[in-house]
Amino acid sequence: MIPAPFEYVRAASVNEAIAALSADPDAKLLAGGHSLLPAMRLRVSRPSALVDIGRIEGLSTIRDDGDDIVVGALARHHDVANSELLQTSCPILAFAAAQIGDPAVRHVGTIGGSVAHGDPAGDMPAVLLALDATFVATGAAGTTRTIDAASFFTGLFETALAPTEVLTEIRVPKASGGWSFLKFNRRAQDWAMVGVSAVRADDVVRVALTNMGLTPLRAVAVEEALADGAGVADASVLADHGTAPPDDAFASPDYRRALVKVLTHRALEEALA
Ligand code: FAD
Repeated sequence: MIPAPFEYVRAASVNEAIAALSADPDAKLLAGGHSLLPAMRLRVSRPSALVDIGRIEGLSTIRDDGDDIVVGALARHHDVANSELLQTSCPILAFAAAQIGDPAVRHVGTIGGSVAHGDPAGDMPAVLLALDATFVATGAAGTTRTIDAASFFTGLFETALAPTEVLTEIRVPKASGGWSFLKFNRRAQDWAMVGVSAVRADDVVRVALTNMGLTPLRAVAVEEALADGAGVADASVLADHGTAPPDDAFASPDYRRALVKVLTHRALEEALA
């Protein structure tokens, strides 16, 4: 289908983008366009204007910042996957980025767009939840605030970002412990039917689930069982606690509940090995 008519504005800076969003409450940011444009073609999304942030300088760098790595919101999935810094100091993020879509998608889609879109089937949100990442949002007059991953994803395609904020950075702690990212799909390059991300940091294990509810979810019951000394087999059977998996053409909720337990078992074995 053809999108509804819209204006197009190219922002040269974050401040320009915020000004354009503030001037028109129905405007939307455009980064890689690989989620927004398909939604517009289906007329699920009908913004009055697109504010293109794709060429703002300095928003796509990936840099070392002590205990954290700072990933610019405009870093493409390809850049995240191939960043030596991430491959060394936060390998789960680089590995997961390499599993997104196909090369054409990875060369255009951005990590910030993936996160801001708030799709529970997206790969990046659950990985960043498992990593306990922090999101930096820039608002009017250049003010910034940080939002932790646990409070960022508020509903289906909804996040804690205000309509006039731009997600500018994602801070991920360096992760030297074990990890696992498992994505189950019917064909290579498909979205996850279910995904599990597990990260071990010191004595803490965090597990996050893809496509098991309206938002990416932490598998809290699994994490608590492990903290109380349960083994992997006993903990992983709790993986569907607190979830509300979707029913779609690819899998029923019951199938997803069974699948998430199997994947969590495998992910924990890999992360704790
Ligand atoms: P856009 O489409 O430009 O924007 C998405 C939303 O985020 C919009 O609402 C926009 O206004 C908002 N936004 C963008 N940037 C910012 C920002 N910096 N601050 C605030 N708001 C912002 N994803 C997966 O996770 N796994 C897959 O397997 C997968 N397969 C795909 C296959 C295909 C064929 C396609 C087309 C997409 C696929 N994707 C997949 C989605 C892809 O990863 C998208 O690129 C990503 O979800 C959105 O990033 P984007 O830069 O394209 O964002």
